[in-house]
Amino acid sequence: MQDCIFCKIIKGEIPCYKIYEDDYVLAFLDIAKDVYGHILVLPKTHCKNVLDIEEKTLNKVMIAVKKISNHLVDDCGFDGVNILNNSEKGALVKHLHFHIIPRHDDDGLEVFPKFAGDECDLNEVCEKLKIKEEVFEAIPTQKVVLYTDGACSGNPGLGGFGAILIHNGKQKIVSGGEENTTNNRMELMAVISGLEAIKVPCEVDVFSDSAYVVNAFLQNWIVSWQAKGWKTAGGNEVLNIDLWKRLLVQVEKHKVSWHKVKGHADNELNNACDEIARKEIDKLRN
Ligand code: 5GP
Ligand code: ZN
Repeated sequence: MQDCIFCKIIKGEIPCYKIYEDDYVLAFLDIAKDVYGHILVLPKTHCKNVLDIEEKTLNKVMIAVKKISNHLVDDCGFDGVNILNNSEKGALVKHLHFHIIPRHDDDGLEVFPKFAGDECDLNEVCEKLKIKEEVFEAIPTQKVVLYTDGACSGNPGLGGFGAILIHNGKQKIVSGGEENTTNNRMELMAVISGLEAIKVPCEVDVFSDSAYVVNAFLQNWIVSWQAKGWKTAGGNEVLNIDLWKRLLVQVEKHKVSWHKVKGHADNELNNACDEIARKEIDKLRN
């Protein structure tokens, strides 16, 4: 993030009073000088807030928050700490950070605001806000980028598909091929095999050059096909129902965002997927 002030501090472009640093986390004194020892703890990779951060990185940040807090109490003579965070609401700097406020028994600080009081029925609030286990499990905590491409030599003909998954800066490739298939089936298989390779529910950004696949979701074709009993607007049976159903299982599991990219252009990862798909066709040919 070019104009993020905390990213600039992480890169060393703006100086800071460093309290702790490792590969994932940086902690430094808040510039405000409002409270003695006010510390900010943040991930070194840019993310907006707790709604945005990946589980693994959040673990690293929270462990640092705990250890720094232990240090303040065990080694620096404080009696306790308050941990604060603004997410979406109230944040001045939109790079996730936790504030550690070191406390003394007699410091007289009012760290939490005094709220006016809410005349609510806690029973009712609880009914509204409680989370069922299956909902909790389905809330994605990790992000994956998925590039896909399918190819066919003849349509129908020999087909191949390739998918590149990117998670936490690491890449994984999934590929396959089939005889007597179509280009559209291979485009679908590229996305399906990529999504099926992701074990836990994730937020997935899918990049495909297939208007057929992407528009089925962005233009809601898939919703109207299903509403019509898998018939197209013209009344014909939808092609590749088996694969659309297999894809829908994945779309229900993950939170998918669809992106259409231009094929055979300057998108490196799309081109790499195309190459993987073509190699699969070569394998079938030989
Ligand atoms: P927020 O309101 O976003 O939760 O907190 C942002 C905090 O970042 C504020 O407490 C503010 O004082 C601190 N801050 C803003 N700019 C800088 C800076 O350049 N250096 C340091 N050390 N702290 C900063
Ligand atoms: Zn940043």
